[in-house]
Amino acid sequence: MAAPATSSSTSNTTATPETSVSYRRFGKIRNMTESKREILFLIFQLLENQKYEGTLHRLEQESGLYFNMKYFEDLVSNGNLDEAENYLSGFINFDDNRHSCTTIFEIRKLKYLEALDRQDIAKAHKILLKDLKVFGSINEEVFKQLTLLFSFKNFRENELLSNYGDTKSMRRRFIDISKELIKENPKLHAKLKFPAIKDHRLLKLIIQSLNWQHTRCNPRKREPLFNTLFEDHNCGQSRPMPMNNSMMNTAPGPKARHGALADNLVSYLRFGGKTRTMRGLTMEILFLLFQLLQNEKYEGTLHRLEQESGLYFNTKYFEDLVSNGNLDEAENYISGFINFDDNRHSCKTIFEIRKLKYLEALDRQDIVKAREIFLNDLKVFESFDEELLEQITHQFFLKNFSLNWQHTRCNPPKPEPLFNTLFEDHNCDNSGPCL
Ligand code: ZN
Repeated sequence: MAAPATSSSTSNTTATPETSVSYRRFGKIRNMTESKREILFLIFQLLENQKYEGTLHRLEQESGLYFNMKYFEDLVSNGNLDEAENYLSGFINFDDNRHSCTTIFEIRKLKYLEALDRQDIAKAHKILLKDLKVFGSINEEVFKQLTLLFSFKNFRENELLSNYGDTKSMRRRFIDISKELIKENPKLHAKLKFPAIKDHRLLKLIIQSLNWQHTRCNPRKREPLFNTLFEDHNCGQSRPMPMNNSMMNTAPGPKARHGALADNLVSYLRFGGKTRTMRGLTMEILFLLFQLLQNEKYEGTLHRLEQESGLYFNTKYFEDLVSNGNLDEAENYISGFINFDDNRHSCKTIFEIRKLKYLEALDRQDIVKAREIFLNDLKVFESFDEELLEQITHQFFLKNFSLNWQHTRCNPPKPEPLFNTLFEDHNCDNSGPCL
């Protein structure tokens, strides 16, 4: 007769680097990798329920755990081809196998053909030399054919591509091809199915945990108060938390959706238990998620959730973006928290970051970009401070192009010129420190 398969005694716990193992008391978890995988799926479900879609797709990609075919198709249909390729890159590399290789080649080819169709020759050239050239070593002939398309006014004049339709049907064609490739790709086919999970599973687990914590209270109050998820509940100590707890009182960002989570949560509380405020609990769950994402090093997802929930502004991250010159991303990040018409602080912050982008473009002599920033991003401030905008317009846009350019006209130009104001033209002769 066989011995019982496993015993739940503690003697068979083996040393493992996974911290979560030390918290389990009864029995064994199948294996840690599988448990982590399941936790991530519970988080996918929660993010989807909360409509934090940007965060959801970022986590799918960053964890490489679930390829969302519908999302991928939508990106392609809507022409977000860069984002579609970026999403793919979370799952496959062009040198994995021929399915991956062909999928990535096809999406880059589509980008290239669309650029040619738009007569955007600079862009087409860039894609050819930067993105498609790598395939030249695999299939020289195809690469040569693609290069030759520049000589046609319409690439469909090339007989190999004569059956290509308009943009919409080219995208449809790519989706049909890539769907098959993705399904057959050994790197992907295990990642295409979302497991069946009961509704609001993660929230129910959290509630189970609160209920379980209460079973250990002595004495056990009839109406326990669950006032935080950050500490274990204990009837003996569960006085209402002081209201000056700064996190609880954080004003929600404009895009925050507190409450919805907790509405689902409250109906599962047993023992007539009360939570202090529903909004507080919702926020706490999100903070627990921040912690988990940080520990797992899913940083892209972390910052996306900070922004999408509007709950925590990560100053360090914002500073790093600016220092590294990722000004578009910095502005995008801050837009999760403020709008330029909130108040004068918001207005000034957004104005300053756009001004910085504008000045940097002028400094690079990128006049096209500077004009674009001026017309699309800065002109909106005209109604707030007409005079300031006027100065920017005249000083930099119409008369001069950049500080560096101003300096080229100095006679004699100092080796270390001082640019101390934007309101006057720089001139080495009279550039004393501004008072
Ligand atoms: Zn209790």
